[in-house]
Amino acid sequence: MDALIKSLRPSKPSDVKPADSKIPEIRPAELDPAEFLAAAVRADQPRPSRAEAEAAVATLLGYIGENPDREGLLDTPRRVVEAYDELYQGYHQCPAEVLNRTFGETAGYDDFVLIRDIEFTSQCEHHMMPFYGRAHIAYTPVERVVGLSKLARLTDIFARRLQTQEHLTAQIAAAIDEVLKPRGVAVMIEAEHTCMSVRGVAKHGASTFTSRFTGMFRDNPAEQARFLSMVRGPRAHERRGPAKDHRKRRGVVFQPLAQRGVAQGRNLGPCPARGRDAAGLRSGCDLDPGRANGGRVPHRPALVLLSQD
Ligand SMILES: [Zn+2]
Repeated sequence: MDALIKSLRPSKPSDVKPADSKIPEIRPAELDPAEFLAAAVRADQPRPSRAEAEAAVATLLGYIGENPDREGLLDTPRRVVEAYDELYQGYHQCPAEVLNRTFGETAGYDDFVLIRDIEFTSQCEHHMMPFYGRAHIAYTPVERVVGLSKLARLTDIFARRLQTQEHLTAQIAAAIDEVLKPRGVAVMIEAEHTCMSVRGVAKHGASTFTSRFTGMFRDNPAEQARFLSMVRGPRAHERRGPAKDHRKRRGVVFQPLAQRGVAQGRNLGPCPARGRDAAGLRSGCDLDPGRANGGRVPHRPALVLLSQD
């Protein structure tokens, strides 16, 4: 199997059910796309009312020993339900719809397209606690390509549902497979689970990696290796030299006024663009974290931009 999965949960023996003690084998090819390739909530699906949801939050407040009527908590049920609306909006969004807008102009391009470092936050379905990290997605288009931001949106749609990291990985791969019908898909997700870092064994900084390969990535170990080395390789903004009006001296990054709206010469600290771009593209980042040779190294992008939308 493709997935490299380290056990995350549970910490207490009493939590361990016999069925949970074995890591399930994920076979996305056998997933029924109908189960996840649409908005997960149908219009006619009965839902508790908002007032009922807020009352449930008040119940939980009472359960933990709080007084839900004290002043500081009066608006908490409303806020929690609003936060849920945001964190779980993926149930109302359709992944297939996002991927259906494609472009036909591949200009003979026949290699894979990799979008790296798509940041996401999801909620684990076992504890309803966040896990967050980065997704790396590659696919080899056949004739049609999808706008790069769409893969970031796809990730968010699935991430904004209750998930396991394994299923999140599998669903992203299967959705791209099903809708774009590419020659292959590779998805790797690295994440930290707060149900492991702030409760349970309370180990901070442990990363969980999952991966899924289909088509040519599944069948060709050399393509898998190339995908993994590009995922692990230097970031685009670490490869490129500074633009002509950018300088880096002794850890202080200079950047033109117009670009960031801050005074030139101010120490901007770590690259603010890092990880910000929803599509994971570093092309917009003009900070140079460490070229000592005067920045004359030509920019060799790790990503190939086929289409922008
Ligand atoms: Zn969990």
